[in-house]
Amino acid sequence: MYSAATRHRPGEPLEFHVKRVPGGLGSNYMCSLRPGDRVVGSGPYGKMQMRDRSKNLLFVAGGSGMAPIKGLLEELFAVSYDYEAWFFYGARSVRDLYLVEYWREMERKHGNFHFIPSLSDRDPAEPWNGEEGYIADVAARHFERFDGMDAYLCGPPILIQTTLKVLYQGGLRSSNIFYDEF
Ligand SMILES: Cc1cc2nc3c(=O)[nH]c(=O)nc-3n(C[C@H](O)[C@H](O)[C@H](O)COP(=O)(O)OP(=O)(O)OC[C@H]3O[C@@H](n4cnc5c(N)ncnc54)[C@H](O)[C@@H]3O)c2cc1C
Repeated sequence: MYSAATRHRPGEPLEFHVKRVPGGLGSNYMCSLRPGDRVVGSGPYGKMQMRDRSKNLLFVAGGSGMAPIKGLLEELFAVSYDYEAWFFYGARSVRDLYLVEYWREMERKHGNFHFIPSLSDRDPAEPWNGEEGYIADVAARHFERFDGMDAYLCGPPILIQTTLKVLYQGGLRSSNIFYDEF
């Protein structure tokens, strides 16, 4: 199962972010595709869809979990959005980060969008002047309380579990949290 990284636009290409898993059938098949290859798929099946737009929104992802969050954020900013949106993105090291310029451009276009990447295992030789640490801890450092927000999370189980803990401690209820774990 792979998440669309683009908002739903009938007739337009779909974008996927696939992490190649050594020996994995599905991910290696996806990564072996070449321009012009014919692919048959079905969907959508996920529950990651934009809910209430009339509030501040928090997005947290790690690794290829960026994919559905990108689709949601594209949908959010496709029409006017009057609140604040924060996207906390966790990667291990600088070389694991991607689409940084895409998100910086989105910040320039939308003053109410904030991209906060963090590295959890930075090679000291890599130049970096951003956040460091696990993304759940970074979100906790930015917000004492999450009341009034909705949160969308996507990434590996450890990221989901640690972020849920931080959100619950900050007063958010499960009915305001939507996530895909993979
Ligand atoms: C809701 C959800 C969303 C996900 N979104 C992403 C994402 O955006 N990016 C990402 O990197 N990972 C995503 N994953 C994880 C992904 O589905 C796989 O678990 C992961 O890629 C493991 O790699 P694998 O190579 O072992 O995949 P596999 O478990 O081998 O296969 C992954 C998918 O490909 C299908 N598949 C396998 N072989 C074939 C074949 N020969 N022909 C056709 N289909 C086949 C499987 O049915 C399965 O749906 C998501 C998981 C979930 C539950």
